[in-house]
Amino acid sequence: MATHRTKMLIIGSGPAGLSAAIYGARAMMEPIVVQGIQPGGQLTITTEVENYPGFADVIQGPWLMEQMQKQAEHVGTRMMWDTIVDIDIAGGSPFRAVGDGGDEYIADTLIIATGAQAKWLGVPGEQELGGKGVSACATCDGFFFRGKKVAVIGGGNTAVEEALYLTNHSDDVTLIHRRDELRSEKILQERLFKSDKITPMWNKTVERFVAGEDGTLSKLVLKDTQTGEKSELEVDGAFVAIGHAPATELFKGKLPMDGGGYLEVEPGTPKTSIPGVFACGDVMDHTYRQAVTAAGTGCMAALDAEKFLATLDFAAVMPAVEEAAE
Ligand code: NDP
Repeated sequence: MATHRTKMLIIGSGPAGLSAAIYGARAMMEPIVVQGIQPGGQLTITTEVENYPGFADVIQGPWLMEQMQKQAEHVGTRMMWDTIVDIDIAGGSPFRAVGDGGDEYIADTLIIATGAQAKWLGVPGEQELGGKGVSACATCDGFFFRGKKVAVIGGGNTAVEEALYLTNHSDDVTLIHRRDELRSEKILQERLFKSDKITPMWNKTVERFVAGEDGTLSKLVLKDTQTGEKSELEVDGAFVAIGHAPATELFKGKLPMDGGGYLEVEPGTPKTSIPGVFACGDVMDHTYRQAVTAAGTGCMAALDAEKFLATLDFAAVMPAVEEAAE
């Protein structure tokens, strides 16, 4: 167990955290990034990225995050393979955080970039069949369903991307959506409707995931949202893609949050209610939630942290200046 002292502690290693680190390191803040349980964040479980500016060709999410991490390290960031399990911020700067192995972090400024995680439906069979046919990540688990029947639940960008990705492995993909209109971007919808491997199933919700004799997923029990009629769909794999929830458990009772659990910040800034504590990326943004906006708010957080640190340094110097003047 060790104690790490830094001017800038960043919790989370997605585009928000790593952009904050790049700016913080270049401002000589010697940032420490605690990577968390999913190093690199959500982009590490996506495949193709074609909306991150700067790349004329399609790039891969994990590759992009690897590049961002290398860039952060090259300019002086320390990456820690750790997960913060406790944090003490009420008393103001310096802040204290504790990692799951007992390491302690003392930081003048804190940047929260913990992101968001996949949501689950919360219906019978879902949890029990996790890893046995039910998943929230097609790019992680799609491979296991080569040549099999799969379904994706949801109607947003994630669901459509997952369905398209699954066509690399399966010729029989059903997209189950609770309405008759997708929420996803039009360009993705076009690709989906063009694919002869994907069948959209409208106005249906999943009531239950059912196991077969071998203990793995065998079918879904569905309910029509218009008529209430029940039906069944035989599948080998089901991918839940219904959005994300912010990873803010650690800050409950410590920082203000909105009804959805997202951290509240001063509008137009990454400032939380505690001076010196900043939030950036998906943990505070339920509207845009893009890699590029996360990177932008990460940059803003580092710039504001630098300003905050300058006020601390000024306050520390002031008494000495006053004494010398007497
Ligand atoms: P979204 O919140 O955009 O979509 C969630 C989908 O799941 C909606 O269609 C919603 O239905 C449906 N849903 C939610 N709860 C339930 C439920 N209990 N039962 C059944 N269906 C449900 O989440 P995404 O993860 O798709 O996207 C999140 C953000 O990330 C978005 O801003 C998206 O644009 C972005 N993103 C961008 C990508 C890219 O640009 N390449 C890739 C992936 C995500 P309904 O429509 O009826 O509300």
